[in-house]
Amino acid sequence: MSTKEQNNRYNGDATSRPSCTDKKDENVSNTLMVEHGLPDDIHTEITISFATCLFTQEFCELEGLLSDDVKMISYKKRTIKGKDEFVQYWKWLSDVLKADQIITDYSVKYNALSGHAIVACNQKSVFGSVVGEAYVFLHLENGKISIAIITPKQLQPRMVRYYDQDTPPLDYDKIMHQKNEIISPEPHRMPCLNCGRLSDELEWYKLEIDSGPYSHIGQVSVCPYCKKQIEFYPEFFIRKQ
Ligand SMILES: [Zn+2]
Repeated sequence: MSTKEQNNRYNGDATSRPSCTDKKDENVSNTLMVEHGLPDDIHTEITISFATCLFTQEFCELEGLLSDDVKMISYKKRTIKGKDEFVQYWKWLSDVLKADQIITDYSVKYNALSGHAIVACNQKSVFGSVVGEAYVFLHLENGKISIAIITPKQLQPRMVRYYDQDTPPLDYDKIMHQKNEIISPEPHRMPCLNCGRLSDELEWYKLEIDSGPYSHIGQVSVCPYCKKQIEFYPEFFIRKQ
């Protein structure tokens, strides 16, 4: 993935649990921006609270936003379970970024794939060059975060052509009509943000999407319960003309 996490191994050692006395590091010049016109719903409210915790580095404030069995998914890497581990993950990531002098611009913005507010994280060096673009998607249950997933903004290599996590989902009926062979579900991928089923509980297929002068061949996951596309991961780009 394109975030700094890729190059730094997460140490899930519970002995390094963050202390509730951790305070904001005044030397870090991270920023937080909230887009205008977001949906007026609990999802937006919780997403802003979550982004504020990351920005202020008041990690212990996170706990009140989490359900008891919360899961933190790092795309294609791992799934961490539990409140303490969730908080510890974000504290660890913050420490890694600080050690590498990476500044993060957080923005809460509307996302067309999920239909909700998400947290976009633009990571840049002190010289201003972008070093990573990550998105954090949340799934809520009873007004609490039950799943968070951090993904790169764009999942596939750029040579496959730009196809990012802002792209609206493909039509479910069209996918089911055009799908090719079934493929094995993978863990640590996008969950259904509607019902909370994890990626290995979804249906996966090979799929070719025709986009006029070119097409993409890749993997698609769908939630058969919510009848939605969850993730489309193009593996090949084909120019037809
Ligand atoms: Zn679902």
